[in-house]
Amino acid sequence: MSDKYALIGNPVAHSFSPLIHAEFARQTGHDVEYTRLLAPLDGFAAAVEQFRAQGGKGLNVTLPFKLEAYKLSTRHSARAEHAQAVNTLKFEDGAVFGDNTDGAGLVRDIEVNLGFPIVAMRVLLMGAGGAARGALLPLLEKKPVTVVIANRTVEKAHELAQRFFHQGCSGCGYDELVNRQFDLVINATSASIAGELPPLPAHLFAPRSLVYDMMYGKEPTPFLKFALEQGARIADGSGMLIEQAAESFLIWRGVRPDTAQVIAKLRAGTLL
Ligand code: NDP
Repeated sequence: MSDKYALIGNPVAHSFSPLIHAEFARQTGHDVEYTRLLAPLDGFAAAVEQFRAQGGKGLNVTLPFKLEAYKLSTRHSARAEHAQAVNTLKFEDGAVFGDNTDGAGLVRDIEVNLGFPIVAMRVLLMGAGGAARGALLPLLEKKPVTVVIANRTVEKAHELAQRFFHQGCSGCGYDELVNRQFDLVINATSASIAGELPPLPAHLFAPRSLVYDMMYGKEPTPFLKFALEQGARIADGSGMLIEQAAESFLIWRGVRPDTAQVIAKLRAGTLL
């Protein structure tokens, strides 16, 4: 019998994760079955328990359950502890281990796949939700000169930045970005899902900057179009998606799949 894993969330129908993990399983020779699990909005814990009782080995967790997954875990990694959000659950004897691979996936995509070192860069992180919180510690570990968190609800940006104040982190609203420039701008808001663009000033992107949207899709998001118009280099979140999945696979299976060929297949539309 294959070892069972799944992506749990609401909605989950759109997700590429089952295709990505099927590719990882083929590549590594691991006997793994990875499915989608749609949980009712008020039934996350029950759905996790049922999956576990049926022999499930682990879960990836997506919107809107990452905070609940953190609370449900009985043991956390340091990065999950900092993010207070969990996207990977591993079922162990009598325990549930919770980790957060989003930030590691983001940083690896930026540094390894896109060849953009974060050290000494001025970083703007847009958003203060689950994805931004997961990204913050792995970003800071790469020693940027500064990380500014901008958020629509300004208090949330301040609250998040306060925790990392000593590592050069500050929080603000979008109106405070006028006359500032950044080398790396990461959109960790969900604005792109609604086809919206946060209110960014012109001249935000420094020469040779990288502009990254965690959202991915066939067309560039309004945010990436805005950056492209201003001459910035752009990237969407498809590489992050695959890198965070590889990090989860490593936690569950003890081996890290080769992501380069999976990214190439996803972009070519040949991931089966
Ligand atoms: P959350 O719901 O936790 O947070 C949403 C954030 O977006 C909040 O900071 C919110 O601000 C902000 N926001 C929402 N709408 C707007 C808007 N119109 N203008 C400005 N800000 C806005 O979502 P997540 O953090 O979990 O996800 C964020 C994004 O990251 C999603 O697009 C998701 O798909 C993507 N993601 C991609 C991954 C990948 O592997 N590529 C992995 C994880 C996430 P406020 O606080 O004011 O409400």
